[in-house]
Amino acid sequence: MSDMLGNIADIVNPDGTGLPDASAWMDLLRAKVEEAAMNGSNMGALEKLIEESVKELARPILRYGAQLVADQQQMRCPDCDAELLVEEHDRERTVNTVFGGIELRRSYGRCKRCKKRFYPADHTLGLGPRSTASPRVQEISSLAVLRTPAGQAPEDVRRMTGLDIAPSTLHREARRQGERALRLREADVALTETLEGVKALSERSQAPERPFTLVIEIDAWHIRERDCWGETEQRRKQGQEIPSRWHWVYTGTVFRLDQRGGTASDRPFITERGYVATRQGVEALEKQLYAEALQRGLLQAKSVLVLADGAIWIWNLAENRFKQASHRLDLWHATQHLWAVANDLFGNETPEARQWAQERVAWVKRRKDGAVDVINSLHEIRNRLDELTQKQRESLDEQIGYFERHKDRMDYKSGKALDQPLGSGAMESTCAQYQVRFKRTGQFWSLEGDEAFLALQTLHWNRRWHLLFPHDRKKE
Ligand SMILES: [Zn+2]
Repeated sequence: MSDMLGNIADIVNPDGTGLPDASAWMDLLRAKVEEAAMNGSNMGALEKLIEESVKELARPILRYGAQLVADQQQMRCPDCDAELLVEEHDRERTVNTVFGGIELRRSYGRCKRCKKRFYPADHTLGLGPRSTASPRVQEISSLAVLRTPAGQAPEDVRRMTGLDIAPSTLHREARRQGERALRLREADVALTETLEGVKALSERSQAPERPFTLVIEIDAWHIRERDCWGETEQRRKQGQEIPSRWHWVYTGTVFRLDQRGGTASDRPFITERGYVATRQGVEALEKQLYAEALQRGLLQAKSVLVLADGAIWIWNLAENRFKQASHRLDLWHATQHLWAVANDLFGNETPEARQWAQERVAWVKRRKDGAVDVINSLHEIRNRLDELTQKQRESLDEQIGYFERHKDRMDYKSGKALDQPLGSGAMESTCAQYQVRFKRTGQFWSLEGDEAFLALQTLHWNRRWHLLFPHDRKKE
């Protein structure tokens, strides 16, 4: 079979156009299909046979098209559009495509202004300077590495696309795309620094004319990272320990309230939303979240709601960056605090504790100023000093502090009336989605590597894949 396919390469380009002789190709393929049919072939075998053969036909056509692009390329600088000083014509390079390897010839020149050398054809075709992957191979590598533990990705790719890509190549290519995603993210953040930039980001939002509420949820989770990146194998062989530590991943999600629908089981789901995730600290999250919120209609929104747990940094961020927003403490989080007080005062899960907690949870849910009522009742208990131990008093003071701090964020009654979310369920599912990918056993990366993959995953979920892979843009 492979001999026959080898012959197909020989019939390519019989008339010097660079295009294959399709009828000769068809004759060969028909012969192979008939032979397989005579032997009672399984359909999977037929599929593979035809798939391989189609690639043999497609490869020279792709080469022909890509070479046409290269030949027609104007020798101008991709960065500044100045005319390039051509230094070499027709230099060859190999590109690995979904149809196999092809050779291309293209010219390069130097930009006097940018003081750099460019291959303008590579730029137009979407080829990276230090990678042989075609745009489709770049895309497949990225998706495979995002979805599958590193060790399995090449196997999946081979089975699903017939492409044989070495694990290191696959990973390096995905990483390269992650770095491109990082640069796009940095460019968005840079836009937030000027008025024109803010306007440009805001214009990307497809905000409706009618008034809407924008919901922003924020949280952090942690990821384990291995130190001594690159030395793992060596250390293991030498029986040395591989140190690792936990790092915070700061995460946010942004969506319009009207983009939240209900499923048959009445669990809310969100049809369209923005994601942000970074390991570069709270300040980095703040900037990225602002850029994302602008692109989701921050400036057009009638009202903005920030929803999160009790972490101080979150509310500082909200006050810094989303001054117009109203705040809501996650209801489940508030409820946990009430149960903690009850168990502490009346004994763990005793009927008295349950009754006390349930009553106050109901206040908080149903009264506009339920939190104030809770605080008052905590003060009443606090005043019966002789009945409490020192430890109980201290933890009661802590809880009073918590409710004092957040009382203005606990108007669940009005929230419910407006059909707003009371808890940060959307954030929890966002974190879970990231964790499925980034907390998998055996997934340890360097700080820079993680950030690149986080950016790549986030760009994908934000439906901006076409910014890296323009061929993915939907036909209008
Ligand atoms: Zn230039």
